[in-house]
Amino acid sequence: MTRPGERGGVLVAGSANLDFVIRAGHVPAPGETVLGRGFDTFPGGKGANQAVACARGGGVATRMLLALGEDAFAAPIEASLRAAGVATTVVRTREQPTGVAFICLSDTAENAITVAPGANSLLRPADLPPFDDTTHLLLQLETPLDSVAAWARAARAAGVAVVLNAAPAQCLPADLLREVDLLIVNEGELARLSGVEGDVAAAIDALAVPDIVVTLGARGCCARIGGQRLLQPAFSVQALDTTGAGDTFCGTLVAELSRRQPFAAALRYACAASALACERLGAQAGVPSRAEVERLLR
Ligand code: ADP
Repeated sequence: MTRPGERGGVLVAGSANLDFVIRAGHVPAPGETVLGRGFDTFPGGKGANQAVACARGGGVATRMLLALGEDAFAAPIEASLRAAGVATTVVRTREQPTGVAFICLSDTAENAITVAPGANSLLRPADLPPFDDTTHLLLQLETPLDSVAAWARAARAAGVAVVLNAAPAQCLPADLLREVDLLIVNEGELARLSGVEGDVAAAIDALAVPDIVVTLGARGCCARIGGQRLLQPAFSVQALDTTGAGDTFCGTLVAELSRRQPFAAALRYACAASALACERLGAQAGVPSRAEVERLLR
């Protein structure tokens, strides 16, 4: 059993993509063509971003289950996970290409994202590796819903805490939500899941999950933990690219919980880490180290 301050263990089961990022004056409206300025590729995918955040930003032992095609896009994804110290269980397939995301990033740090899941869509319930020393299983919604539900059930049965980042926004079957110990959503995802628009407190109360954290962008985050309300303001930074902010938040929050840190302290840590991520380009490249987060918190 992990005691306070000791290294915990997190298993992330989720998506890995290669992000193709174009910077432009503004995000195009439907039918509009915008001339971009810079182009870059970055390893991404919510699952891989959160695994990197857990390992590098949170400093806990992290394993990720992911699926990759047998193509040139797989190598930079694996290299980024390796560099962050994430152990991997890889399902490799010829049936589908590695997942990709096309991201337009505007000068006002707005973004528009299209994802082709490819190999991510082939992840199955039986692919989940053993839990070993895992304290938390971290899931998102970029892999098949029936697999996500089966992984959550397996974790519950093994006494592993289930954390679901319900992104991208969609309605969820009640049997999946029943398996979730901690739900993390942004305001859009909260409204979609709860059916309540424009009232965060009422939307939180409409959801039957034990604990819930809502990220509020530049306003920080709020939470209902064990029935108690918590609020953590954002750290003030010059935002350049908010693409990976939510993922950095999720990964570092779960890392802190895996270390058995109190919830309020874990929220503060995750807000600091995600603020630093906003200052840098690239979802994984932008994840700060533990030392950088601790410097901001001093
Ligand atoms: P998502 O990217 O999933 O939509 P949010 O935009 O809510 O998530 O951002 C996640 C977290 O990142 C926030 O809770 C906050 O801590 C941090 N964050 C986001 N934007 C900013 C910003 N402009 N300044 C400081 N922190 C930010």
